Amino acid sequence: MRRRTLVTRAGLPRPSQGTPFLAGPTFAGAYHAAGSPASSAFTYGRFHNPTWTLYEQALSELEGGPVVIFASGMAAAAAIFGVVLRPGDVVVLPSDSYYTVRVLANGYFTQMGVRVRTAPTAGNAQRQHLEGAKLLWLESPSNPGLDVCDIAALVTAAHEAGALVAVDNTTPTILGQQPLALGADFSVASDTKALTGHADLILGHVAVREQEWAEQLHTWRTQMGAIPGPTEVWLAHRSLLTLDVRLERQCKNALAIARFLAARPEVESVRYPGLPADPAHLIAARQMHYFGPVISFVLPDRASAERFLAACQLVYEATSFGSVYTSAERRARWGGDAIPAGFIRLSVGCEDESDLIADLAQALDAIASSVK
Ligand code: PLP
Repeated sequence: MRRRTLVTRAGLPRPSQGTPFLAGPTFAGAYHAAGSPASSAFTYGRFHNPTWTLYEQALSELEGGPVVIFASGMAAAAAIFGVVLRPGDVVVLPSDSYYTVRVLANGYFTQMGVRVRTAPTAGNAQRQHLEGAKLLWLESPSNPGLDVCDIAALVTAAHEAGALVAVDNTTPTILGQQPLALGADFSVASDTKALTGHADLILGHVAVREQEWAEQLHTWRTQMGAIPGPTEVWLAHRSLLTLDVRLERQCKNALAIARFLAARPEVESVRYPGLPADPAHLIAARQMHYFGPVISFVLPDRASAERFLAACQLVYEATSFGSVYTSAERRARWGGDAIPAGFIRLSVGCEDESDLIADLAQALDAIASSVK
């Protein structure tokens, strides 16, 4: 089966006469489990749930390795840190990776004796910091700067140095980029974003190369209790089946919009890995199947960025990204990233390309006219 077909059937059980193709969520705190616990596949709701199992199976078919799901992308990231890192270990993070991952490493894990080194995603700069490291954490494209690193080359260097490699694959999703196939030990994502794509749930997962890590992550989830609810997981599974259709449209729209933005005089520093002129394009074209739904660009200052967002009619102002609705935010409103005040992260949805470009054009015209 080609990947497009695989994704529309991912995790679905064999069809059975008179039953739905994807049965609804199973709500269970406890299961009937008489006698020895080993005699029942399901015993207690924090340990396992058949709705989780189906979704994990679906992701595993796409990722190419066993999968453990978590209540959020952050719970998934924290679980990798938790099972891999011990006091004295070194983790090498991208200095431009998702902010909260850095906060978690520099806060809690540093207090627990882990040492954190950081370097930018661009230019594979993390390669210079691998000596003695236990874990190399990559995020490509990085959020929000959209720099790209050469994952396969960094994996080779990390493995030679004795380090494991985790790739935060949130922005491209598993259809956009396959970290395990590029050699990574862990592929981690916030399923909150394009993977599920409807801005209606929070979820995360980790796929692993070695079964042993899946067992450790499963134990972590059971003991920490960071479990997802069955409704979210069922919604995620249903949404996953349309991932290819959504991404194809989102990425086509994103490229058209990146080209449009790059030609506007009031817009600077447009970044989209799919733009042939983008500094990340060559590596991205080699390792990505889709360039993702996210674009970044810079408006002259905070005031013009705020006016632009207020003038957009179709583009929702929202944090998060990857959904069917186009959304944008002035990213510096949160702090924590080394970006200019007028930096906009735009997440392109599934609307009609011409409608989106018309909306962005009138919002940019509104800034231009208010400056005159
Ligand atoms: N990784 C990246 C790249 C993200 O952008 C985010 C959230 O924005 C996360 C991880 C954390 O995911 P969640 O919000 O589902 O916990």
